[in-house]
Amino acid sequence: MPMATSDSSDSAARDLHPSPRLQQSPGVPRAAAGTHVVVVGAGFAGLAVMNGLEDTGIKVTLVDRHYYTTFQPLLYQVATAGLDAGDVAFSARALVRHRQWADFRQGDVTGVDWEGRQVLLSDGDKVPYDFLVLAAGAVTNYFGVEGAEQHALAIYTLDDALAVRSRLYHQLEAANANPDRDGVLTFVVVGGGATGVEMAGALAELLQASLFRDYPRLDRGLPRVVLVERMDHLLTAFDKSLRRYTLSELSRRGVEVRLGESVAKIGEGQVVLGSGEVIQAGVVVWGAGVAASPLAGKLGARQTVAGRLVVEDDLRLSDHPEVFAVGDIAAAPDPSGGVTPQLAQPAIQTGAHAAEQIKRLVAGESTTQFRYHDKGIMATIGRHAAVAQLGKGIDLRGTPAWIAWLALHLLTLLGARNRLTVLVNWSWRYLSWSKGPRLIVGAETGRLTRKEPRAGQQSD
Ligand SMILES: Cc1cc2nc3c(=O)[nH]c(=O)nc-3n(C[C@H](O)[C@H](O)[C@H](O)COP(=O)(O)OP(=O)(O)OC[C@H]3O[C@@H](n4cnc5c(N)ncnc54)[C@H](O)[C@@H]3O)c2cc1C
Repeated sequence: MPMATSDSSDSAARDLHPSPRLQQSPGVPRAAAGTHVVVVGAGFAGLAVMNGLEDTGIKVTLVDRHYYTTFQPLLYQVATAGLDAGDVAFSARALVRHRQWADFRQGDVTGVDWEGRQVLLSDGDKVPYDFLVLAAGAVTNYFGVEGAEQHALAIYTLDDALAVRSRLYHQLEAANANPDRDGVLTFVVVGGGATGVEMAGALAELLQASLFRDYPRLDRGLPRVVLVERMDHLLTAFDKSLRRYTLSELSRRGVEVRLGESVAKIGEGQVVLGSGEVIQAGVVVWGAGVAASPLAGKLGARQTVAGRLVVEDDLRLSDHPEVFAVGDIAAAPDPSGGVTPQLAQPAIQTGAHAAEQIKRLVAGESTTQFRYHDKGIMATIGRHAAVAQLGKGIDLRGTPAWIAWLALHLLTLLGARNRLTVLVNWSWRYLSWSKGPRLIVGAETGRLTRKEPRAGQQSD
């Protein structure tokens, strides 16, 4: 997941043949001083927009429902007690502290007043803009599977990761007190993509490597990690040989991989597979898919079947030339003719491109076409085991891929303190085989399988 740099090749042939619609760009302001850009979402894409507008004289306001930005690729390590929450989050205030031209507003964006050019917040406030960049990311997609939202734990936000961790340790305590309870230490992970593979691998490592030091009375045969994937392979986006390697590594680490099996229903303490098989489970983690942020559906703008915002090739919304959509919420064009995957690199690159286009429009220039540069993909399975597909036929597996994965994630974390604490935590775990932060915290404590409705959600 290499960091994007703003790419000079973006200034492609669009300059020579700008579309008349983009050239006209009615109502687009033409002076940096006094131009106000509002960015909704302080994730990879939103931050790339802000970074791209540094030293331009343009004022930027970042709006996010959280007062911190989250490094999602390491959430599963928070969930499995490898890292602490503060290691993967960074204060939004700290991001704007030394930038006189930037501001942060914590708020939940509920819509946009297109006519008045204002972003609407749930507290009734409105934030006016000259340019708007929608970078609100994605949410967990349960694909309508019965009971999934109520009974499975997602792993998309910091709250989700902490809830998984609390449940995990609660189950261990429950098993220690009453090991005969059916499925008490069975962990089912749904989805064999990168999130599911990383989660299953980390769970297996946690349960096998360090569990019995803390719970010496537990039967070593009790913990079970089951990974369910409806395709006949894991990691669809990777080459076949890397998929095979991943399957064999997970199996070697004790994960029961169930390929070609779909989840039909999730109930209280159990998962029902499409084949009819019922797995009694203490914890079910849902890592099977994402959908665009629900904000996309509130705008009256064009969406793809998966709910992502349809954008022009310069990343603007077709009916709103002063509005860009970037990152996971947008369906940006991909060189293959499809759309970019919902990953960090496309988010960073689309964010940087939107910033570049705003600068061009402010300078009275035409926009240029977005071109995605695929810098490769990676997934980790556990200690000394990862896969990396770096393009041009370069595939890594095992220790080299694992080291590359560790280095890349360390480098791309925000904040020197976070990088240092993660490095210390990882080194300590590596040397001691122990897990770091173990406290049981959060609203999930004390419950076995039911998920609490969050604030604002209906209880069923
Ligand atoms: C568990 C997990 C592991 C991952 N691992 C990898 C990996 O290894 N490699 C990789 O490349 N990608 C990975 N990804 C995907 C990657 O993290 C995303 O593609 C990337 O974060 C998308 O960036 P974004 O800026 O579009 O959205 P996000 O980073 O999700 O940021 C969106 C921001 O918008 C805010 N927001 C949302 N709605 C509103 C609203 N209505 N009002 C105000 N604020 C709002 C959110 O709080 C959030 O801060 C992973 C994702 C997850 C969940």
